[in-house]
Amino acid sequence: MNITDEFDTIAAIATPIGMGGVGVIRISGDKAFEIIEKIFSNPKFEPRKFNHGWIIDTNPSPAFLSIEQDSLQEQHPLPQGEGKIKIDEVIVLPFFAPNSYTGEDVIEIQCHGGINVVRNILNLVLKNGARMAEKGEFTKRAFLNKRMDLSQAEAVADIIHSKTSEFAKVSVKNLSGVLKNKINDIRNEIFEVLSKITAGIDFPEDVKEPEYEYLIDKFNTIINSINSVLSGANTSNIFRQGASVTIVGKPNVGKSSLFNALLSLDRAIVTDIAGTTRDVLRETLDLGIPVTLIDTAGIRDEGEGANEINKVEQIGIEYSKQTLDEADLVLFVYDASKGLDSEDKKVLELLKNKKHIIVENKSDLLKLSPHPSPLPQGEGAADNASVNTDKFASHTVKLSALTGDGVQELKQELTKRVCDINPENLEFVTNTRQQECLRKAKNSIEQALLASQLRELQDLISIDVKSALLALDELTGELITDDILNNIFDHFCIGK
Ligand code: GDP
Repeated sequence: MNITDEFDTIAAIATPIGMGGVGVIRISGDKAFEIIEKIFSNPKFEPRKFNHGWIIDTNPSPAFLSIEQDSLQEQHPLPQGEGKIKIDEVIVLPFFAPNSYTGEDVIEIQCHGGINVVRNILNLVLKNGARMAEKGEFTKRAFLNKRMDLSQAEAVADIIHSKTSEFAKVSVKNLSGVLKNKINDIRNEIFEVLSKITAGIDFPEDVKEPEYEYLIDKFNTIINSINSVLSGANTSNIFRQGASVTIVGKPNVGKSSLFNALLSLDRAIVTDIAGTTRDVLRETLDLGIPVTLIDTAGIRDEGEGANEINKVEQIGIEYSKQTLDEADLVLFVYDASKGLDSEDKKVLELLKNKKHIIVENKSDLLKLSPHPSPLPQGEGAADNASVNTDKFASHTVKLSALTGDGVQELKQELTKRVCDINPENLEFVTNTRQQECLRKAKNSIEQALLASQLRELQDLISIDVKSALLALDELTGELITDDILNNIFDHFCIGK
């Protein structure tokens, strides 16, 4: 659908298809009332009042004619027609334009759930003059009819697709207009500067050009405002896409136990034969942000001979390398009761340029014996009982995957390290499209700032300021093309 298309009447099932108590069919457009009048037994509507009655097919194919027509006729006088069958007993909610989700006349039919009744009713609605809605078309109409701006429309998609309850909560803030208001404030600041520059250019005799110092000051303020909106961008993206956290470490240090402890699972570990290819384990952990936890647990030291152990070690390193690439953060686990040995160090070496947390596992054994048992001598012996945290990581967590001691602290640290700000403090979320618009606006203002510092002609400066304004208009949807709009609403589901 193009922005300029006429708005015909659309319909769709708004609830998920499947078993359920209630199903909802939504109709929006000029013909919404006309259609419902043809198929509903009780079609005298008043604003803000729902009607109870039956959905009736007044023109069914003969095979479906019901023998119950007479009893139905007694309960509710039926619309015109020869053969009539009851489709379902329903509640109908009328919304008169412009006081509806889309801004048009809207009818919502609440029927019994399940697959067939909702489909039968939708088919009947389509047969009587509606067209099947495209993905996100209801929300698109809400946007085009100015019931919401684009950031609010995008929030609707975020709410529907949210993977965690925290993300749903912050998306609702966007729907209520938090991001929209922030952007409008920045837009107003830019607009004020642009007005002053333009007035000076257009009416040089009456209005003085703004001082360059004033412009520099204003542009710096605007850049700070944009930066503050962008500061949660990384957290927003992680909220949306989730983060990958990989657990690495040599065999038997407790990686699988930690995996289970973090997930509060007692999941059986797949024990494969050393040396064969195996899958890494993945589970989703809800830390407010969705975290995919990846365990390289299948790698176990089951071989007897030294060659076998080397092979296992080798596989361990290979697995670590593969999963490291996709990880946003790595949990490096070692057995604190034994100390860090050269094998541990080989794994740790891979993490030099990777965000990671060092997990000192088996702390319960330390409590039993405050002085770890003497470290084994010779090749591969532990040569450092505590990790040099300055060199390898900014944080170390001591815990026991067995007793659960310290696991909560690790979860907190994990959230802190994955996000650039605490998700609980996030006032609003941005998506990559919005971030792109904000960056464009910021670049333009930075250009304007530079030009002001160089005391360039204000005519030239105004070009950059206008570009910044346009970038923000693109964000809110004031200025938008069909392509961008279609791309946004393609990510919706049908019926929304
Ligand atoms: P992985 O090979 O690194 O995945 O290690 P596992 O999770 O399979 O653990 C190896 C052994 O260490 C098992 O016998 C676990 O029960 C034990 N283990 C794991 N974590 C702890 C812990 O915190 N304390 C103690 N005492 N034992 C642990």
